Amino acid sequence: MSENPPREFKAETLSAQALGKVAEPFFDIAPPLHLSTTFERAGDGSYPGGRVYSRDASPAYDQVEATIAALEGGDSALLFASGMAAASAVFQALSPGQRVIAPRNMYWALRKWLILFAEQWQLDLAFYENTDLEDLEAKLAVGKPALLWIETPANPTWELTDIEAAAALAHQYGVQVAVDATVITPVLAQPLKLGADIVMHSATKYLNGHSDVVAGVLVARADNPLAPRVRTVRALGGAVLGPFEAWLLLRGLRTLFPRVRTASASALRLAQHLRRHPAVAQVLYPGLPSHPQHALAMQHALATRQFNGGFGGMLSVRIRGGEAAAKSVVTRLTVFKRATSLGSVESLVEHRASVEGPGTFCPDDLLRVSVGIEHVDDLIADFDQALAPLNGAAPA
Ligand code: PLP
Repeated sequence: MSENPPREFKAETLSAQALGKVAEPFFDIAPPLHLSTTFERAGDGSYPGGRVYSRDASPAYDQVEATIAALEGGDSALLFASGMAAASAVFQALSPGQRVIAPRNMYWALRKWLILFAEQWQLDLAFYENTDLEDLEAKLAVGKPALLWIETPANPTWELTDIEAAAALAHQYGVQVAVDATVITPVLAQPLKLGADIVMHSATKYLNGHSDVVAGVLVARADNPLAPRVRTVRALGGAVLGPFEAWLLLRGLRTLFPRVRTASASALRLAQHLRRHPAVAQVLYPGLPSHPQHALAMQHALATRQFNGGFGGMLSVRIRGGEAAAKSVVTRLTVFKRATSLGSVESLVEHRASVEGPGTFCPDDLLRVSVGIEHVDDLIADFDQALAPLNGAAPA
């Protein structure tokens, strides 16, 4: 785990310069790539470089982990081989029989894994309604839970959970709070500052931002009691990131702020445009007044806590005419690439229910859209031409 970085600079500066570290002896501006898996021992048996084996702590991770920890306002970060590996390490750090509270709507693969793992590990797993603090409290009040999992905005319908209020409730019951902040990113919210204990990212998404790395990360404060157990899960379980992936991730992180801000601004404009389109039944986006928790999002935005300067780059569009009509729109889109995943520089679209498969909660007329950093006019025009055959002209 890398040491705590300096805090005197703004987050944009820390991100752009990856903490401004230069490596001796050449004073490289772009960091060197550390490939060694093993490190020399001195004759007396000590490790003068402070490293033993890269599965425990690779120098390839140091600057990346320190940068992400600084952006999240945490003391330390741990990289993993994927977002799933990072998230599952948190649950694997729990003891059999402990109670876990998770949102009804969450990233589908994690929900699927968690249900299986809870059975095998005998976790007492309960689901709460993402937006309902009363329901959450009812679940927290039973059986002394160990962990509350939050995902906000939640895939793929983007319900919001008030991190600050949920964390305050959980702490009344002595429950640790972990937030999957993949979609909101440290640009728009820092869950640790809102009371969360652990932040998790699929770094595959916005943190890397270029559709060329699968990675995950956990961030926590120094005194987190789960942290040593999570570190052991990584070191012994072995879901470690490759050095080159860590290097690429650091490069991606340097442009995190402009990427997320551009995507957020364009997503808002696209959402506002599509909301008025006659072929569109509903646009799900926290920045639209029609979103069920828009008031909450605005409250957060005004307080510059959750949604600090934008509502994110993810939205979903429900197409009039059901599944067939929705799928036909995907076929006609050309600027949007037909692919799963999110948070990259290129815009992506997918018919989400068919990606999630049997048992999905996702409506079958829903297209999940990840807005990239292309010119927003091209994105709007692409949707207009793809929607046009459904019922004629685009809105004025
Ligand atoms: N959490 C969220 C919100 C995600 O969207 C994803 C991936 O789509 C994950 C976790 C899992 O991350 P990964 O694909 O890097 O394992």
